[in-house]
Amino acid sequence: MARSLITGGAGFVGSHLAEELLQRGDEVFVIDDLSTGRIDNIEPLKRHPKFHYVIDSVHNEPVLAEWIDRCDVVYHLAAAVGVKLIVESPVNTIETNVHGTEVVLKLANKKKKKVLITSTSEVYGKSTSVPFREDQDLVLGPTTKGRWSYACSKAIDEFLAIAYWHEKRLPVIIVRLFNTVGPRQTGRYGMVIPNFVQQALNNEPITVYGDGEQSRAFGYVGDITRALADLARHPQAVGEVFNIGNTTEITINALAERIRQMTGSSSEIVHIPYDRAYEQGFEDMPRRVPDISKIQRLTGYKPSVELNEILERVIADFRNGEEREFAAAEKTA
Ligand code: UDP
Repeated sequence: MARSLITGGAGFVGSHLAEELLQRGDEVFVIDDLSTGRIDNIEPLKRHPKFHYVIDSVHNEPVLAEWIDRCDVVYHLAAAVGVKLIVESPVNTIETNVHGTEVVLKLANKKKKKVLITSTSEVYGKSTSVPFREDQDLVLGPTTKGRWSYACSKAIDEFLAIAYWHEKRLPVIIVRLFNTVGPRQTGRYGMVIPNFVQQALNNEPITVYGDGEQSRAFGYVGDITRALADLARHPQAVGEVFNIGNTTEITINALAERIRQMTGSSSEIVHIPYDRAYEQGFEDMPRRVPDISKIQRLTGYKPSVELNEILERVIADFRNGEEREFAAAEKTA
């Protein structure tokens, strides 16, 4: 049992992590400024006697310092999320990701509280050495292309965390999250699965970007949060970098087709050039698959929910959401 602070705990991954930690008996503290998180995500947790939250930013140092003091371990998830948001708001992305992590590490270091930093598979950039291993080179594009600011800001976070470990013996763990999906993920920030499911359920065109032959491997959020909690408890994880994700690849074309079938939708599948979907000269990565042998060796991590089941759960979640909205609209009518 631990007292755990989750920055960004009202977000998609953060709120699932809060559930996981409460189930393990932790006392859970959440700080979230609701910039991309949603209060609905933590609504059911508010009644839990071991759950505490504050709506504030990690940039508010006095508040963050107090909450770090009350905890033994910090899961730092507060960050700018989603390629679309990053391309549209690069200043906010860089400032949130770099400054937020700086503050968390500085304050945690005062009391030597363990910090788990969530980084991203984006840091591998355009590398084509698939599957990606934690110790391979990062291949980023030019600074004139906004997308790479996300990878770069997260790489700085990693450098800083490792520097705190080497220079100041602050116990840190770095995880690189690959495409993480599941119920409660919103399509608002451009993520592909919630977008496609919503489009399919509304019988609207399913928008595949580029030629659709790029592939991804999707991890279930419950598997990912279990891995985060296991790593934070493992003494040998300190000072290390870990990939977390699933290794089963699917092309975006095949994903669109599968979602159309599973929802029984009459949507057509349309292809939109990257320039129009994101920005002029946008560069996507053709494949992105994690090598997960490092975490497997340490904690025995094994993804347990595969893509079809993930899609079933996401589709059910959107259908339930629609029913809830419909019922609310009926009530107010
Ligand atoms: N994508 C798509 N249609 C959408 C949203 C995303 O074809 O409506 C593509 C996107 O270009 C990328 C893949 O799906 O190749 C995964 O996108 P996402 O934003 O979910 O995650 P990423 O892997 O880019 O971080």
